This record gives sequence, structure tokens and C-alpha cells, in this order.
Amino acid sequence: MSTEAHKTYCNAAYTKWMNKLAKTAKSKFGVSIVYSDSQPDQYLGEHGMIVVNTKQTKENQMFSLLHEMGHAQNRSKENFNKEYALLHKHDMTGIPIRSYAFRVQLLEEEIQAWRNGEKIADKLNIKLNKRAYDNCAAICVMSYIDWAADRDWQVPPYA
Ligand SMILES: [Zn+2]
Repeated sequence: MSTEAHKTYCNAAYTKWMNKLAKTAKSKFGVSIVYSDSQPDQYLGEHGMIVVNTKQTKENQMFSLLHEMGHAQNRSKENFNKEYALLHKHDMTGIPIRSYAFRVQLLEEEIQAWRNGEKIADKLNIKLNKRAYDNCAAICVMSYIDWAADRDWQVPPYA
């Protein structure tokens, strides 16, 4: 296959897998997927929505979707309020919490969302390029680590 043909072939696979993921997001978490070329990837629980930015490769769009579904999964857990009490408090009040404990909890939930994404892919027989997925996760997690390590308070880089 030519490089171009191979790319088309891969993109078709990603589109198929992402449609599969969208169905699962709806049925399992009641969440709809919105594609946008101007908004960043994000999980908007209160709107029952996941935004996927289309200005990235199809592969990265799928990684992002998996990760955001990982957030939805965390928040659908019955014990989320207890397990992530500070995040829950923040969700409820909308008021930023400046403590180190909050930062660490946010980091923990971020990493868990990446792990969830991997499991979701596995369950749906989606073939993940594990190395690429882990690299993508690492870049995102590092931005949270930078944020958490800053002694001055900044608004977290929600993604
Ligand atoms: Zn995230």
C-alpha cells in the first residue's frame, strides 16, 4: 500500500472505532461527542458532552476521546464523591481549591482517566498503539504535573 493509501485506510479504521466509542459513551455514560476545530478536548459532565478537537491526527482524536471517556467513567462511579472528595467539592461549588491535596487528587484522577481509556479500548477490541497512547498520556499528564508543582496557584489546565 502507498503511504497515502495506508493513511486513508488507517483513518477509516479510526472513524469506525470512534463511532463505536461514541455509541458506548452514549449508552454507558449518557454523553454525546461533539467535534470542534476551535475548542480543546474536554469532558463537560454538566452538559453530558465530550468535545474532541479535530485539529489533531485521527489517532490523537481517538486517544483524546478515550481519555475523556475515562473522565466520564470516573465520574459515573458510585463512590466518586468519596474517592475524589476534593474534586467533587470543586465540581459542586465551582470554587478553586488551592491546597496541594486538591492538586494531587486532580493528578490522580487525570492518570486514572488515561488508564480507563486503555481499558475501554480493550473491551471494544480497538487496537491501540500502546506506545503512542502512553506518550500522548505522558505529555498531558506532564502539563498537569507542571501545574501541580507550581508553588503559586494557577487554574488547572482542564483537558
Ligand atoms: Zn483529562
